[in-house]
Amino acid sequence: MIYIKSKIALGIESTAHTWSVGIIDFEGNVLSLVNNMYLPEKGGLHPAAVKEYHLNNFHKVIKKALHNANITLKEIDLIAFSKSPGLGPILKIGAHVARILSQLLKIPIVAVNHCIAHIEIGRLMCNIDDPLTLYVSGGNTIISAYESGRYQIFGETLDIPVGNLLDMFARDVGLAHPGGPKIEKLAQESNTYLSLPYVVKGMDLSFSGLYTATKRLIESSDYGKKFTLNDVAHSLQETSFAMLTEVTERAIAHTEKTEVLLTGGVAANKRLQEMVKSISEDHNAKFEVVPLKYAGDNGAMIGWTGILRYKAEGAHTISATQINPKERMDQISIPWRN
Ligand code: AMP
Ligand code: MG
Repeated sequence: MIYIKSKIALGIESTAHTWSVGIIDFEGNVLSLVNNMYLPEKGGLHPAAVKEYHLNNFHKVIKKALHNANITLKEIDLIAFSKSPGLGPILKIGAHVARILSQLLKIPIVAVNHCIAHIEIGRLMCNIDDPLTLYVSGGNTIISAYESGRYQIFGETLDIPVGNLLDMFARDVGLAHPGGPKIEKLAQESNTYLSLPYVVKGMDLSFSGLYTATKRLIESSDYGKKFTLNDVAHSLQETSFAMLTEVTERAIAHTEKTEVLLTGGVAANKRLQEMVKSISEDHNAKFEVVPLKYAGDNGAMIGWTGILRYKAEGAHTISATQINPKERMDQISIPWRN
């Protein structure tokens, strides 16, 4: 038997805090994945500081990913990078590095939408075909599914993403970034629900009023007397997750999808998993959480989505690889799913 080595893609994720390189073959086997996350000492993500950090470190991440995969740059057959959506100065680093590699190595390049990549790595890793996806992260909150040739958006946040809500609240009470896991721990110690604004408008969500209300609670004179930080964390999670679950449930009912996928960094949250699993089961839909290594931002998902597009319609020209910080996933055609 002749062993034919699969082609290999190098995927670069560069939309926000994490510069990540994934090396993955055309069969979907991940050969290596190396993440390098910028963690602010205090406050949120300042694009200029993140940019400086990634510029100083990206080459080490590429080197380590190649080393871990036990290959050299010359063995790479395809370069993929995240071109949208994200912070402009950060997207540009990924685009520049990808273009340079593609031209120096004389190999094809594919520009990838980050949100679509989250869904595609979920389909691959969870071995499912056609899910309704709840994508919840620090930068995005989107309920989507494939219909009429595109990943249509059925619901989304009108203001801040849910991960950002948790991170901002955590910062206000003195907890370091990322706040989501710390809020989850705090919430586990309480069953006291404090009434908070629940804002679902049609199929869309708004979290900014909820953020302001939790901030008022911890500034109030009753804080630490009539209720605790644990109670506020519990109430914040219950309210925001119930909003997400309501919209996800209506999207399942509308699309009649029989698979539900939870992804993004916030997918790590056990309470959210429990709530989305419960409504999935109510609708006889199979529930899957993307393995946490691949749920947050990562280069493997970019590499894999690059492979899917490349197989379906070939590479992009260099001039078609311009970044687009505001591009929505429903603007993009999906030729590999026809
Ligand atoms: P991402 O933007 O996909 O890399 O995900 C990062 C976001 O996920 C941040 O907002 C984190 O606070 C959030 N996150 C991570 N783990 C948890 C958790 N266990 N519960 C809630 N949010 C989380
Ligand atoms: Mg993401």
